[in-house]
Amino acid sequence: MDKENIFRIRDLTRTYRKRKITIPAIKGVSLDINEGEIISIIGRSGSGKSTLLNLLGGLDSATSGTIVFKGKNLPDMSRSELVKYRRFAIGMIFQSFNLVPGMTARENIELALRFAEFPRRQRKTYAMGLLEKVGLKDRSEHFPSELSGGEAQRVAIARALANKPQVLLADEPTGNLDSITSSEIITILKEMNTEQDKTIIIVTHDREMAESVSDRIVRLSDGQIAESFEIQRNGDW
Ligand code: ADP
Ligand code: MG
Repeated sequence: MDKENIFRIRDLTRTYRKRKITIPAIKGVSLDINEGEIISIIGRSGSGKSTLLNLLGGLDSATSGTIVFKGKNLPDMSRSELVKYRRFAIGMIFQSFNLVPGMTARENIELALRFAEFPRRQRKTYAMGLLEKVGLKDRSEHFPSELSGGEAQRVAIARALANKPQVLLADEPTGNLDSITSSEIITILKEMNTEQDKTIIIVTHDREMAESVSDRIVRLSDGQIAESFEIQRNGDW
């Protein structure tokens, strides 16, 4: 409860411009995210969830407003500061896994370790450790096409953890998975929160899943926060 805000978002907007058409995807969002919390962003398709997540991940830039991450405003960061931010502070997980198809599970993680400037000689061992953490040690030499959706997403989670990020951003991480596999993925994310104290922001349109995992739910509607509420939890979830 006394934890600091890891993100302070104020009056955030993002307007896409295509020729003469302007699409206001985020229209004045203000939100504080606490360190160590799991927050779910829900809302209908097109409500701005991915846009908001991409802004938080430094993949997209705001049209106006501020996103303060541990005292630093993302829109004020230089290009190289943003690269550092993405490399060292953030881990991202996507609906479609986004693994490199020509690389094995282990190589995908080793690639992320290289970007995180992890010492070359320890990459293989560390990658295997990460695979073990997500229960996939025996799949290390498999290519993405040889993995089930749930396995591929677990590799993607291991990859997202490679740079020891403080924040995990997950955009519809279970969107391509059946319900049993989805709850396995959510269990792993929850573990990363409780065991490693990661702040986790999950975009989903699955309200039931959001309620089962998060400390707080924020519902976006038409680029604005329509609803925000805490989930009361008694003991273990
Ligand atoms: P969600 O993830 O909730 O489905 P998005 O954030 O992807 O919603 O999209 C919000 C709005 O912004 C939608 O109207 C979408 O069409 C528009 N949008 C998203 N990305 C772009 C883009 N790169 N160029 C133009 N419009 C976009
Ligand atoms: Mg989306």
